[in-house]
Amino acid sequence: MTLADISRHCYELTQAYLGAQNASSIVQETQEAIRETRAIILTEVFSRWSPLNGEISFSYNGGKDCQVLLLLYLGCLWEFFALQVSRSQYAAAYQRFPLQNLFSVYIDLAETFPSLETFVDETAARYELSLYSSRREHGAQASDMAAAFSDFLERYPETQAILIGVRATDPFGETLKPVQKTDKGWPDFYRVQPLLHWRLAHVWSFLLYSGEPVCGLYEHGFTSIGSVDTTLPNPHLRGLGETAPQHKFQWEVEHSYGTAGSGINARPLDPSDVSWLAALGEDKYLPGWYLTDDSVERAGRIKRKK
Ligand code: FAD
Repeated sequence: MTLADISRHCYELTQAYLGAQNASSIVQETQEAIRETRAIILTEVFSRWSPLNGEISFSYNGGKDCQVLLLLYLGCLWEFFALQVSRSQYAAAYQRFPLQNLFSVYIDLAETFPSLETFVDETAARYELSLYSSRREHGAQASDMAAAFSDFLERYPETQAILIGVRATDPFGETLKPVQKTDKGWPDFYRVQPLLHWRLAHVWSFLLYSGEPVCGLYEHGFTSIGSVDTTLPNPHLRGLGETAPQHKFQWEVEHSYGTAGSGINARPLDPSDVSWLAALGEDKYLPGWYLTDDSVERAGRIKRKK
């Protein structure tokens, strides 16, 4: 697929989700959340910075939130192009999608799960990301995320704004705004945060409906993925595996875009993560999408006992 193909696909899947009628209250809330996010991207962001020349970049770490934002952003990119075509004096047949890759950045300083690393690589290819990886480009020189972004800006000084899949329920998220400058101590650019109003249930509703691949760790009880040293499956999903109740997203899975009825596309785990999970003990965990309580989403983000 080209960036044009995947952007169009994301546009169409978003429209299909927005067009769903008589669906659950979660779907209706998510439709509203999507409209708000799209308005931020299409009106606030694209009127300020061009999505075509490197002024806008995308922070991507393979997590569910930035994947949702990426799907919406790609859909908006297609809409931006379609609007340009409709305003042009030249026939649509003579117009080509103006981008081949999406500028994006992955800060991989901390040791993370091999399954997540593989997922980032696979999806970077699927979504045609031109992905700057801090470790690959700069070795392990940067000491923290802010320093890693300074390195990134040195390499891509045209960057003005970076999209982030942060939500208001994340730590310190409640005071954030959709578009704001970075804090003191951070390199100078605009943070674009169009998912602040999203709840956990909205994320799963849209992601499971999308039929897109999902990082396999989520299938094994993870709900928020940090470094290997600080992440465990969510204890609120423990021990429930034998008597799996229904989750709240049956409609989404049954009607998933382009893949209806074929189940959730969670990627297989890397064998080293399978061994790592086995070493934690016998407990079974329900998949991450069984958890919709935002207040305990990060209950697995703790210091692991050595
Ligand atoms: P998550 O909940 O997993 O991440 C939330 C989002 O952050 C993700 O969806 C993704 O878009 C992005 N992200 C997280 N980790 C990575 C990564 N390793 N590589 C690429 N993207 C990632 N903190 C401040 O105090 N002041 C700032 O001005 C500030 N500016 C930031 C600008 C950017 C572009 C980013 C990505 C982060 C910034 N942060 C800043 C840090 C931010 O507030 C979070 O602490 C950080 O993103 C990790 O969040 P989390 O652990 O909640 O991860």
